Amino acid sequence: MSSTAAGDEVGPGPRTRVRRLPERARYDRATVEAVLDEGFVCHLGFCVDGEPVVIPTGYARVGDVIYVHGAPANYALRRAVEGDSVCLTVTLVDGLVLARSAFHHSINYRSVVVFGVAHEVEDWEEKRLALAAFVDHVVPGRNAGTRPPSEAELRATRVVKVEIMEASAKVRTGGPKDEPEDLGLGGIWAGELPFRVVAGSPIADGSAPVTAPVPPYVASYRRPGVEGEGRPPA
Ligand SMILES: Cc1cc2nc3c(=O)[nH]c(=O)nc-3n(C[C@H](O)[C@H](O)[C@H](O)COP(=O)(O)OP(=O)(O)OC[C@H]3O[C@@H](n4cnc5c(N)ncnc54)[C@H](O)[C@@H]3O)c2cc1C
Repeated sequence: MSSTAAGDEVGPGPRTRVRRLPERARYDRATVEAVLDEGFVCHLGFCVDGEPVVIPTGYARVGDVIYVHGAPANYALRRAVEGDSVCLTVTLVDGLVLARSAFHHSINYRSVVVFGVAHEVEDWEEKRLALAAFVDHVVPGRNAGTRPPSEAELRATRVVKVEIMEASAKVRTGGPKDEPEDLGLGGIWAGELPFRVVAGSPIADGSAPVTAPVPPYVASYRRPGVEGEGRPPA
């Protein structure tokens, strides 16, 4: 993801210029990285024999690289690295927007679309670092508290990195954008229903004794950028 002369702008590139509602576009590195860091599920799209394939999968961002992983036999990852480029998207849903008209109902969101090239990670040390980053991306602080992967487990894991070539973010905020003539329809509730990712109460594994207390990063789990309590009141 190359920055422009302006410094922190990472686009737009030829594929990432937002045409529809361009006022919602963001190309600053901070916005793009914040969305990538708050999410942990992406949709990875690529072509196989001319047919589009999109798979949902976890990921971790390290600098200008996004790591995904799977089993060595993972068909999607193998074909992704064989292709010329991939498209990876991340979506954060921030709320439902209920307008007076059915037509103007909407969703508040922050999303990122990246185009890049996928490469197999062959280097053993990079593989270790990528998998550690993966664990910490999903559960910040977790990697240090786990048994590291064995050589056999590393061999049993295919790690693919997507080098980000271009990226765009798109952000919708605010309430409904009703037609002026509908604003008098006071009998129809209109407004925004905010959403945020909230963890439930931790459940210790019952298959063997767990003597360790619930770690703080589990007890107060929240995604980066998500404010407020980590879980709803009991
Ligand atoms: C949760 C959610 C729900 C949505 N629901 C709808 C819906 O119901 N109907 C609808 O029409 N649109 C919806 N959108 C918006 C949708 O993602 C597209 O932006 C929109 O459909 C315009 O598509 P386009 O191909 O004309 O975009 P264009 O503006 O032509 O796309 C050009 C380039 O802009 C960038 N871009 C486009 N959209 C996004 C995006 N969302 N995030 C980051 N970069 C982007 C990409 O790099 C893309 O290659 C939704 C988005 C989200 C996140």
